Amino acid sequence: MLLTISTTLSPATDLGFLLHKHPDRVQVFEQAFGTAHVFYPDADEDRCTVALLLDVDPIRLVRTRGKNTPDFSLGQYVNDRSYAASSLLASAMAAVFRTAMRGRCEARPELPGRPMPLEITLPALPCRGGAAAAERYFAPLGWDVRAVPVPLDPGFAEWGDSRYVTLTLTGELRLADALNQLYVLLPVLDDSKHYWLAPDEVDKLIRAGEGWLAAHPERDSITRRYLANRRALVRAALGRLADADDSPEDELYREQLEEERPESASVPLAERRVQAVLDVLRDERAPRVIDLGCGSGTLVARLKDDPYFERIHGTDVSDRAIAIATRRAAAGDARVEVFQGALTYADERFRGHDAAVLMEVVEHIDPPRLPAVEKVVFGDARPRVVLVTTPNVEHNVRYEGLAPGAMRHPDHRFEWTRAEFAAWAERVAAAHGYQVRYVPVGDDDAEVGAPTQMGVFTLREAV
Ligand code: SAH
Repeated sequence: MLLTISTTLSPATDLGFLLHKHPDRVQVFEQAFGTAHVFYPDADEDRCTVALLLDVDPIRLVRTRGKNTPDFSLGQYVNDRSYAASSLLASAMAAVFRTAMRGRCEARPELPGRPMPLEITLPALPCRGGAAAAERYFAPLGWDVRAVPVPLDPGFAEWGDSRYVTLTLTGELRLADALNQLYVLLPVLDDSKHYWLAPDEVDKLIRAGEGWLAAHPERDSITRRYLANRRALVRAALGRLADADDSPEDELYREQLEEERPESASVPLAERRVQAVLDVLRDERAPRVIDLGCGSGTLVARLKDDPYFERIHGTDVSDRAIAIATRRAAAGDARVEVFQGALTYADERFRGHDAAVLMEVVEHIDPPRLPAVEKVVFGDARPRVVLVTTPNVEHNVRYEGLAPGAMRHPDHRFEWTRAEFAAWAERVAAAHGYQVRYVPVGDDDAEVGAPTQMGVFTLREAV
């Protein structure tokens, strides 16, 4: 089972820094199911190739199988696992190239952020759906895809093709993105029975899919195949992907909730949240609004649709979110302006609005930095109205497929109970001269409350 990655970056040997593997050495990593070897068949200034060779040990593989795998059968000893690139190669990749997959390189911090010319080859990739499937999954990510079917037996052309292809991907991408895409898409293309599905498989998918999966046209089928069609897991993952800040649309979230809650079928939570925010802004007579942590601009776009709003500004720390929000909402409307900014630093552009909205933002901020954000918003920007929405963690037990104790999104630093949110809100309001009231958003469950909680802060002097 073999994977090679080549680059013509100059100098190409920078690949060794990025992967944290020295080009002059052959390295061996023992895995639960075999041995991974990393070496460089090619290491010149103008072209460098790294190879990951996985030697699967069928006996070890059987011994490490999870409790959920089917009973003993010969198929577990006699199968194609030793030859085919698949979920085992993906796990080996994650173990051996972990730091590179996270986009970190201490020796050369500027390298991981740079797209580089890459060529990736998998000589024997099990590929359900053949070459067309490989094209469908990789091409939307910017790869030039060459997938050549491997004949069942080269001596007997009439037997036709095997379920393997020789896959070559060429493109100009960041190495971390390329590795994460392979990590998800190799098992997706294999689509055969997985040996185990760890309980944190949804988290792994969301983490590896960051920045590319939410907007992928095959997002649904990737998620389904990756999670081996476990319905509850698939639903949880799709819901969270649709909630991800890099997801341009919330349609999937809608589908998910409809399926889960037939009685509240028509209106998804993300939409009810936006609606609740718009209603309160109007009630509070706040036509000039700034959306703090605006993400890809969902709320900005909705404010723009409503002529009541006179000034619609949005800011986010993420370049990528601002680029999407600009494309989506800022063009051709003088009321709208989006800009990059950090909520941990006072910024005069945050001042002078009637209202500030922090919709699903506070839970993304590390607790030690939260006091800085409180000071910037309530102490310095100091609008007449501040709206804060955040998940109500008590409601999580109502989400089928969300593991007990798990949070709704891997980037959440915390999720508050209603009491915890109220304690925070009362303290902040008192410290800065605001009063606060609470509005539940979504079906208000008698026992665990609504899925989203909203605090409406109003400045005392202005009342
Ligand atoms: N309000 C949007 C996005 C919520 S996701 C919506 O409801 O759809 C949380 C957003 O907060 C992300 O886009 C993230 O980039 C942003 N964010 C997190 N920490 C931030 C900070 N310190 N300054 C500015 N934005 C921040």
